[in-house]
Amino acid sequence: TQAGSAEGQEKSNIPGVKKIIAVASGKGGVGKSTVASNLAVALSKTGAKVGLCDCDLCGPSITLMFGKNERPLATEDNQIIPITAHDVKLMSMGFLLEDDSPVIVRGPLATRYTQQFLTHVLWGDLDYLILDLPPGTGDIQLTIVQTIALTGAIIVTTPQEVALIDARKAVSMFDKVNVPILGLIENMAWFECDHGTRYPIFGEGGGAREAEKLKVPLLGQIPINIPTRQQGDSGQPIALSDPSANPTSAAFADIAKS
Ligand code: ADP
Repeated sequence: TQAGSAEGQEKSNIPGVKKIIAVASGKGGVGKSTVASNLAVALSKTGAKVGLCDCDLCGPSITLMFGKNERPLATEDNQIIPITAHDVKLMSMGFLLEDDSPVIVRGPLATRYTQQFLTHVLWGDLDYLILDLPPGTGDIQLTIVQTIALTGAIIVTTPQEVALIDARKAVSMFDKVNVPILGLIENMAWFECDHGTRYPIFGEGGGAREAEKLKVPLLGQIPINIPTRQQGDSGQPIALSDPSANPTSAAFADIAKS
């Protein structure tokens, strides 16, 4: 099935997938993969069927964050079978590459890989497919936003001005191809010490101000804390833990409900 796009280019739906949501950031290192992983887990905890695809050819962070290091199998007709962890179906574009291959996949080749890849995974029936886009607004990102029928995009930023500047660029990329921005998520919003004092390490209120300027919702603010990093590193995203015991898990549970 096909849905038309603004440029007259056809956008593909993915069979069986109800909503396709891109998680993007302008800048690297703001926690986009952490947000994409935890959002997938939080949505799955609401009972939804969820898939998550790491669209970064260079850094297979999603598989690490879910503690999976196995290569997916393919069916006889060359459909790739996703790997399941924590009730989320996972796929990584990093699997396209051999372990020791230099990652020099640019321009037309990157574009072709991306298109083929996303439509050749046996996702099955999903309520949500989350696409963890590579940071920035390059070839792969453009291909995805132009050729896949995205329901919408979520932009991850920190409150810091340098991150916000790049977040704006990501927003305008989605605007150009008429993909609705579902909202911003402000990550690393503050650090709260054991005594309850909040330290705005990367500045205060940047996400809210930017959301207002761009006229998009601020979907949530995620604090920076050690368990979020530790759990990510050990393949157990923080959103798996009880929301009443961890503010980050609570923040993702709220975003998943909204
Ligand atoms: P990106 O995908 O934007 O490059 P990552 O999600 O890989 O960023 O995050 C970069 C690093 O910061 C990772 O080591 C991750 O564990 C850590 N991190 C991200 N968000 C948080 C947070 N809210 N609290 C603590 N550590 C975080």
